[in-house]
Amino acid sequence: MAISKKDLELLSLYQSSGSDLFFEDIPQNRQSSATSSSITQKKLTQAGSKSNVAHQSLKGQPSTEPGRERSISRVMADSTNSFQELCEVIKKFDGCEIKKAATNTVIYDGQLGAKIMAVGEAPGANEDEQGIPFCGQSGKLLDNIFKSIGLSRKENLFLTNTIFWRPPGNRRPTSEEIDACRPFLEKMVFLLQPKLIIIVGSTAVESLLRIKPLSMNSLRTKNHLYSNCYLSPNTIEATTIFHPSHLLRRPAQKKVMWFDVLKIFKMIKPFINS
Ligand code: URA
Repeated sequence: MAISKKDLELLSLYQSSGSDLFFEDIPQNRQSSATSSSITQKKLTQAGSKSNVAHQSLKGQPSTEPGRERSISRVMADSTNSFQELCEVIKKFDGCEIKKAATNTVIYDGQLGAKIMAVGEAPGANEDEQGIPFCGQSGKLLDNIFKSIGLSRKENLFLTNTIFWRPPGNRRPTSEEIDACRPFLEKMVFLLQPKLIIIVGSTAVESLLRIKPLSMNSLRTKNHLYSNCYLSPNTIEATTIFHPSHLLRRPAQKKVMWFDVLKIFKMIKPFINS
């Protein structure tokens, strides 16, 4: 069946607004066993490819995550010995459905030797188009915030995200997507060994600290010691800040941000110029 230009435009509109599921034109009797078993089969097949995502079992492989089967992304992350290798395997990873709709795999920007690593949420439309994290409006604000304390991606800062593909319609990444990409992020931290991780917004909190914060406000005042299966028993200091897109929506919160930025300034002083 030929797809008309109009249909394609409509599909693209649905996709950009976050729809990734369509119902068929002909109604199905969901009670009938034939239909439901074929639906279940279809769902299972889809789920199978989705959950390559994160938790597909690899027979004969030891599990590294307690209570979990070893995921494909974990195996891929484990197999890398350098940052360049890690970037290559991230680009090859097909366990996130959202990759299909993305233009680019967006991995990082800034300095590989930087002592400060900032981790955001996910690429947006500009980032997807250019393949660079934080290159849109919220990125500009983040750059200005960091500039005020002497940090810049051209000199002493490394920027990445919790996931590496743009979620359609800029929706928040799902926990499954966060889980699928976490091994890559963990290996990245291990390979780059920053001295401080700035966790930008609640999605990055969910990925790195493995908590779903009810409010970022309660986390702001605390510092954290971050570790993961590659770093352990070593830890890295971590602190959280509001996401710049939150500040764009609520400019009054910028005042609070300055307290956090001053706190970060004190934390980075010992190693920013060394
Ligand atoms: N927001 C993010 O969290 N990351 C980006 O790269 C862009 C916007």
